[in-house]
Amino acid sequence: MIEQKNGVFPAVCPLDCPDTCGLLLHKEDGKIIKVTGNPEHPVTQGAICNKVRNMTERIYHNERILYPLKRTGAKGSGEFTRISWEGAVQEITGRYRELIAEYGSESILPYSFYGNMGILSVDGMDRRFFNALGASRLDQAICNSAGSSGWKYTMGFKGGTSPEDTEFADLIIVWGGNLMSTNMHQVVYAEKARKRGAKVVVIDVHKNRTAQWADWFIPLYPGTDTALALGVMHVLFRDG
Ligand code: SF4
Repeated sequence: MIEQKNGVFPAVCPLDCPDTCGLLLHKEDGKIIKVTGNPEHPVTQGAICNKVRNMTERIYHNERILYPLKRTGAKGSGEFTRISWEGAVQEITGRYRELIAEYGSESILPYSFYGNMGILSVDGMDRRFFNALGASRLDQAICNSAGSSGWKYTMGFKGGTSPEDTEFADLIIVWGGNLMSTNMHQVVYAEKARKRGAKVVVIDVHKNRTAQWADWFIPLYPGTDTALALGVMHVLFRDG
């Protein structure tokens, strides 16, 4: 058994969220008793969301799944039996082996994405594993790939804007994003820009919290984004 020290330990949020907030784990008697934001993190600066602030409730919840379970009844019936870790690995690799022997390794289609967005774990072991296995290739995510491709075609590289640069913008357009609920650190930078006189425009199908906070809310019908984008482009080119 590894000795668990008491104290406050720096960590990084393990959830599937690009902000990867710096955390401080407060430990007593081998248990995490509190999770707070790390004020020394340059971007997240100690601000974390409620999901993770209350994470100890989930970590120590009596219904948390701690062991592999095998479904023994019909799907949805909720019937499971606990199996060993070795048994779970055998189940999965055994099925892989059968598929590869019968249909070839391309019969396996990995459908994984980030899980944790830390620089060490992102795009990591799952890719290597499935490449080594010779599995079929998929562009991994259905949510991210369209945006990345659009960015690449427009800007010439696959990337994004630096969150810190938001502070220096004069016009911030939030198109189909609810920053207030899902991107709280960006709001802090946008608010700094606003204090300098920047304007925030929100384009969305409903007046969410971000739209209420914006200087200008532009509502549109679902599916009409392209028409608006083409219209904006037309004016930009026409007026130089
Ligand atoms: S915003 Fe919440 S979920 Fe996202 S990285 Fe920070 S603490 Fe984790």
